[in-house]
Amino acid sequence: MELKIYHMYPDLLNLYGDLGNITCLCQRCEWRGIKAHIIPFSKDREVPLEEGDIFFMGGGSDWGQNIVFSHLLGYQRIMEELIEDEAVFLSICGGYQFLGATYIDAAGNKVRGLEIFDYETVSEGGRLIGNIITKNVLGLEPETLVGFENHGGRTYHDQKPLGRVMVGYGNNGKDQKEGMVYKNCIGTYLHGPLLPKNPHMADHLILKALNRKYGLSKLQLLDDRLEYAAHHRVLELYSPTK
Ligand code: GLN
Repeated sequence: MELKIYHMYPDLLNLYGDLGNITCLCQRCEWRGIKAHIIPFSKDREVPLEEGDIFFMGGGSDWGQNIVFSHLLGYQRIMEELIEDEAVFLSICGGYQFLGATYIDAAGNKVRGLEIFDYETVSEGGRLIGNIITKNVLGLEPETLVGFENHGGRTYHDQKPLGRVMVGYGNNGKDQKEGMVYKNCIGTYLHGPLLPKNPHMADHLILKALNRKYGLSKLQLLDDRLEYAAHHRVLELYSPTK
């Protein structure tokens, strides 16, 4: 078995360890004897997207996002088709904002999004920074997702969220929602990187991709003691009871 993992704009969208998500996906596939092909995609490295199994788009500075958006708009249709066809997408922070309709950045520039979802993100005064703990709504065990967030943008929507905020800010610091889920497309503000200390989330994405491609319904278990030690350490340090 093999998976094609597209890393979207690695040169422009890669904040707070986002690259670690690619390393994690790749390693967890390899530990199970699944070949993972990492395919970088960017302005000066355009490759067809049709055959992708997993698409990863990291977070970006307002500067990086302003460069990416005009290029990305040329891929609006194919990305929408892939999402509808249940390809796996993980979009972090700036990448998550891009899946929506618009992002008004800190300077007031209107950065168009892919309009796959109709939500808006607006940069309001003060950045939302810190460690974040949420309760996932995907039914994954453990229930918690841990990460780090740093964004000026506040995202507002009625989509299904990825999690409920227990500690931190999430989409906007107001409605307790974090991220969004549609089919196999996930948007989230969790950097850190997200996947190495949330191995249940990493395996959820890998299994969805393998299920779509090969009909697989179960993954071989791995020894995740180290990964969950990191996960629990974050819970220990930042849980509300502390
Ligand atoms: N530039 C965006 C914001 O500040 C996204 C930041 C990020 O990807 N961490 O909201």
